[in-house]
Amino acid sequence: MKAAVVGGGIGGLTAAIALRLAGHEVTVLERAPELREIGAGLSLAPNALRALDALGVGDRVRAHAAASGVTGNLRTSSGRYLRRFRAGRDEPLAAFHRGELHRVLLEELPEDVVRPGTEVRDASEVDADLVVAADGVHSGLRRQLFPAAPGPVFRYTAWRGVTEPGSVWPAEGCFTNGRGAYFMVHPLPGKRVCWALGAAADTPGVRYPDEQAEVTRRVAGWHRPIPELLAATVPETVLHNDILDLEPLDAFVLDRVALLGDAAHAVVPDLGQGACQAIEDAVVLAAALRTEPDVPAALAAYDRERRKRAAYITRTARSKGVANVSTAWWMPVLLGALVPLMPASVIRRQTEPIWGWSPPSP
Ligand SMILES: Cc1cc2nc3c(=O)[nH]c(=O)nc-3n(C[C@H](O)[C@H](O)[C@H](O)COP(=O)(O)OP(=O)(O)OC[C@H]3O[C@@H](n4cnc5c(N)ncnc54)[C@H](O)[C@@H]3O)c2cc1C
Repeated sequence: MKAAVVGGGIGGLTAAIALRLAGHEVTVLERAPELREIGAGLSLAPNALRALDALGVGDRVRAHAAASGVTGNLRTSSGRYLRRFRAGRDEPLAAFHRGELHRVLLEELPEDVVRPGTEVRDASEVDADLVVAADGVHSGLRRQLFPAAPGPVFRYTAWRGVTEPGSVWPAEGCFTNGRGAYFMVHPLPGKRVCWALGAAADTPGVRYPDEQAEVTRRVAGWHRPIPELLAATVPETVLHNDILDLEPLDAFVLDRVALLGDAAHAVVPDLGQGACQAIEDAVVLAAALRTEPDVPAALAAYDRERRKRAAYITRTARSKGVANVSTAWWMPVLLGALVPLMPASVIRRQTEPIWGWSPPSP
């Protein structure tokens, strides 16, 4: 079978790996003249790592990760620990430089599979038995196939950066809640540290002449090593993005096209699950093509399997995001009182449905 994957992001590349492994002929059509990811960090949770293991690439991917205790180290803006990472109780996440994760996935594909500089505007242009629309949150194929579906919704704003190697080291993964904003830190391989500031905002698209200075102003007085991390980041490399998500769609498939990753279910990053879900999608789609008799049946199975889970994750991430950037004066007070009292079993009950996912058996 001939499959065309539109979009060479983390979702598209993983889909291409999974489909090739299932024996299909695959091309990746990418609009950008060169395939690469932007310079920031991202974490993968156990559910995504299990999916990558099912594709036989888990260990090669893990070789580029650092263990982050972000899920266990929760702090207030003054630096007080509301909770501390404890091995055995808290699950570390695998933290990556995005560019490196993307490169490892790209290296799994023969060179002639990927066609950079190829923009797909219309699914009917594509000569393939199956089209995987992995063209991101602003997916043109989603708009074409589901014109009535609502577009992305602005939720808040976020800055990201990566420190120069060795400048602030060692560093622990941690998550700090302040009023109207959060600051997240992951250690990365190569003695680098990635950080993100998420902050409440009313309007999308607002940008500052000096983004790093703006971040520094917003977290003035926050605990160490936040000021040091900002000072150790080259100002021109600081990224500022609108944080968007999508209302759950009524379908992820139409005819021979399957939406995958952010094109199907962009989520806010508050659960660290956007790329993880794209990776899950890829593995489930390839498995459905293996077990179902034809493409329509496989796409129907993919749609059934993925939509409910994606909707759950979208909504859970959104409500976490609302709390994380809440400007209510009482939110940090409430978190400060509740988080230290929260038993591990309660936290496990929240994360288990997400991190406990396993890929379909081969
Ligand atoms: C601040 C922030 C932090 C995040 N942190 C995490 C995290 O820690 N963990 C996690 O799992 N997720 C995280 N995410 C989410 C994650 O980045 C995304 O969910 C993931 O990258 C989506 O991958 P994708 O392949 O679906 O889409 P994209 O990465 O957007 O790729 C889409 C690709 O399609 C191409 N394209 C677009 N239109 C066309 C066209 N017409 N023709 C051809 N090609 C086209 C684009 O050029 C692009 O290469 C975060 C997101 C943000 C914003």
